[in-house]
Amino acid sequence: MPELPEVEHVKRGIVPHIVGQQIIDVTFSSKVKDGKESGKETIIKGITLDDFKKYSIGYTIEDVTRRSKYLLFTLKHGSSRRNLISHLGMAGGFFVAREVDDIVIPNYRKHWHVVFQLNNGLKLIYSDIRRFGEIRNVAQLADYASILEIAPEPFSEEAEAHYLSQFTHKKYQKMPIKQMILEHRVIAGCGNIYACEALFDAGINPHTPSNELTMAQRQKVFQSVVKVLEMGIQSGGTSISDYVHADGQRGTMQNNLKVYKQKTCSVCGSDITTAIIGGRNTHYCEHCQQ
Ligand SMILES: [Zn+2]
Repeated sequence: MPELPEVEHVKRGIVPHIVGQQIIDVTFSSKVKDGKESGKETIIKGITLDDFKKYSIGYTIEDVTRRSKYLLFTLKHGSSRRNLISHLGMAGGFFVAREVDDIVIPNYRKHWHVVFQLNNGLKLIYSDIRRFGEIRNVAQLADYASILEIAPEPFSEEAEAHYLSQFTHKKYQKMPIKQMILEHRVIAGCGNIYACEALFDAGINPHTPSNELTMAQRQKVFQSVVKVLEMGIQSGGTSISDYVHADGQRGTMQNNLKVYKQKTCSVCGSDITTAIIGGRNTHYCEHCQQ
């Protein structure tokens, strides 16, 4: 599943090719069209396909930013502004190519769902093998309330103070710290892989109820989350399942993982323990994380 570092890499891969370009056509796959007709809202959410086209074609892509695990595209056409908000779901990705057939990974080539034809001759292609991803087209970001609930970006100055303030909320006090840091209202963009890795880095057992952590431990957890997310970005994300970059390159973060889906601890040699916490697979070292 693409987490913050992977989404950041998708963004970096597509930005140089699409910013400043006008969208001259939009094409949907038959799955998207059939989904809309049967009321399933496959990928294109909260807007009819006709309106999605109406509010995309003729618009210029002014900017692309990442907010947590969302990609935000700012569109402008005369005095009209729109925003595309996209979440990559379990296995979605954006690619830039002249033709869909030029996408090098067969699964992404086969499972394209939305194609934006740009006026520079390139196509911005959204592919999604499992179709859990989504693209919205809204007049303003506030029209999609979920985006406003997300904690500040983890690399921003206010993120740590925001995170620390969340420990006073009743609903988080007995919650295992692993589950708490997955909440996007607490820390933005920390998914399962990076949560496991951060708690190993911090030396903290993922089952620990958040109110049992000292202030120093709470701060350490935050610093470790930032550290592993930065490492993820630097190494181009993980390629554990089917995630690949916009250019078809694979990230190397999987080589840096210490506990996630690992067998033995590289520090002490103990077996890595797997547990379910808050419904998510959790991997940790019982010896190094107390
Ligand atoms: Zn260990």
